[in-house]
Amino acid sequence: MALGEFELIERFFSRPSRRRDVLLGVGDDAALLEVPPGRALVAATDTLVDGRHFLAGTPPESIGHQALAVNLSDLAAMGAEPAWALLSLSLPEVRESWLERFAAGLYALADAHGVDLVGGDTVRGPLVVTIEALGFVEPALALRRSSAQPGDLVYVSGWPGEAAAGLAALQRGASSAADDPLVRRFLYAEPRLALGKGLGGRASAAMDVSDGLLGDLGKLCRASGLGARLDLDSLPVSAELARRHERDACERFVLAGGDDYELLFTVSPDRAEQLEADLRPLCPLTRIGQIESGDGVRCLREGLETAVRGEGYDHFA
Ligand code: ADP
Ligand code: MG
Repeated sequence: MALGEFELIERFFSRPSRRRDVLLGVGDDAALLEVPPGRALVAATDTLVDGRHFLAGTPPESIGHQALAVNLSDLAAMGAEPAWALLSLSLPEVRESWLERFAAGLYALADAHGVDLVGGDTVRGPLVVTIEALGFVEPALALRRSSAQPGDLVYVSGWPGEAAAGLAALQRGASSAADDPLVRRFLYAEPRLALGKGLGGRASAAMDVSDGLLGDLGKLCRASGLGARLDLDSLPVSAELARRHERDACERFVLAGGDDYELLFTVSPDRAEQLEADLRPLCPLTRIGQIESGDGVRCLREGLETAVRGEGYDHFA
């Protein structure tokens, strides 16, 4: 390696902490972090593996962004406020231009949400990026998957399916990030942190959509010991998706596509109107179904139950 491990950390990942709750950041054996009194620490980790989670040619900025975004999305889905991150980086070689761009993507998203990088680990090996994100939430306001109630309305945020369509365009070699909004949605998905915080204490259950809306709704139902009705006619389809794909393909992207990091949540009917009024300014919110007793997800089209292929989006299909 041209740069040693120490110089590499020093050069790319040792920016001074900006948060006052970081008593000790990068440089010692471990970070010292101060959790506000009365809050629970929320911890999430996710790994991106070269060839599995990103394709050859993915801009390093996007890898840095995505590695943090998937974790911040998990915190959003808990209703948490993010604070700190740790980065474990396995690199086959030290390429300074790659590291510079990777760090730029990571820090841009971290800065946008007030997150400090407070530590990590750096080793030589195949390209693998693991981030652990830490944040906090008032325990009573934390969002779980397991607490939906029969009769609760099911909502999804934003425009699910756009990222999957962007990935498909990339795989066809048809587009690049610069000129395609769907590809940008895949490479630079924005975690719904403000929405997650707003849902805290108001949604009855929530999770982020990472493997596809239909499969993820199934997971939320299983965790809650209930079932759900999903109204296919009410699924949100963005104008860009509708412009570029047939109706059936749009529906498949929305139901089975991951990587948008939208939030799926349930809310009691008597709280729904107020919640919509308060949180719609943040992003589109679409009512797509209702929790019911029983198990599994029933898909309805024009009131009739229909079979829908329900597997999550397959990166290699
Ligand atoms: P140790 O041998 O005690 O684990 P390291 O040499 O691995 O120490 O790391 C030195 C310091 O640099 C630690 O504070 C660690 O958290 C931090 N660090 C190492 N790699 C990274 C990285 N990729 N990003 C951010 N901080 C890192
Ligand atoms: Mg170490």
